Amino acid sequence: MDKRKLPKSKELREKIARRTKEAMKNNSIRKKMSESAKKRVGDKNSFYGKNHSEETKKIMSDKKKELFLDKNNHPMYGRNHSIESIEKMKIQNGEDHPSWSGGSNSYWHYKAYDLFGKKECEVCGISNKDCIEKYNKRLSMHNTLEPKDYTIMESDVWQCLCSKCHQKLEIGGI
Ligand SMILES: [Zn+2]
Repeated sequence: MDKRKLPKSKELREKIARRTKEAMKNNSIRKKMSESAKKRVGDKNSFYGKNHSEETKKIMSDKKKELFLDKNNHPMYGRNHSIESIEKMKIQNGEDHPSWSGGSNSYWHYKAYDLFGKKECEVCGISNKDCIEKYNKRLSMHNTLEPKDYTIMESDVWQCLCSKCHQKLEIGGI
């Protein structure tokens, strides 16, 4: 690129931009411009037949890469059942998710399941797979404290149970 030409063409571009801005203030000119722009389709459009150059593509790609360097900006970030996404769901659904067995404090139950979830019910020994087949629900976490304190993340506070044993324990008040 010829460096001596650059300021001149920049000046010219600004001049055109200024003129266009002035012209846009005038309603009849604006209408005329709009009418002629409508006719500027297909090969009359200045972008017709042109593609983004390799250079432009690279700039766009680099911009995205730069943006996603911060993983929080990446659209796929946190899209597993991580604590982060559960927290988001909690905000969206409110504290009590109606489909959650036990009906309350789903976040803490989820967190406890993440930390202390087992493959079998700790009381009757049914597997998670069988539990889903039989009760249509996976094994769930039972908080053994009375009164309940769901915020304590200690292994002896939580039991991993099938729906049936969970129900029995809750009714029995153990
Ligand atoms: Zn059980």
